[in-house]
Amino acid sequence: MTIDTDCIFCKIVAGELPSDRVYEDDEILAFKDISPQAPFHSVIIPKSHIATLNDIRDDQAQLLGQFFVVARDLAAEHDLPGYRVVINTNSEGGQVVFHVHMHLLGGRQMRGTLG
Ligand code: 5GP
Ligand code: ZN
Repeated sequence: MTIDTDCIFCKIVAGELPSDRVYEDDEILAFKDISPQAPFHSVIIPKSHIATLNDIRDDQAQLLGQFFVVARDLAAEHDLPGYRVVINTNSEGGQVVFHVHMHLLGGRQMRGTLG
């Protein structure tokens, strides 16, 4: 398990910062986004610190599959008939927190690519 002591999401994993947890297993944590962009908005993260999608090694690729399985199960659990998943990568891709995460958004009508 890699920890970056300056990383907000590592502090959430460690319980040093509070969060509203919606899913947890040995490798993955999901919690509500502090600034929700939809009625249901959670972020799904690996517990181990990995900065961006580009930093996921080939032998860690199963994490990406787990992100989608957790998203699917959370959507079912929270009765989302449709939903959107997003991984912003690097500042040019809109990434603000450099601990890789998948956004899960639902509970409203999504339109176009970004709406
Ligand atoms: P990014 O822009 O990096 O893809 O998304 C980072 C997300 O993390 C944003 O949607 C932001 O609202 C959320 N976020 C930032 N700080 C915190 C925090 O301390 N707690 C929670 N729950 N979410 C946070
Ligand atoms: Zn981190």
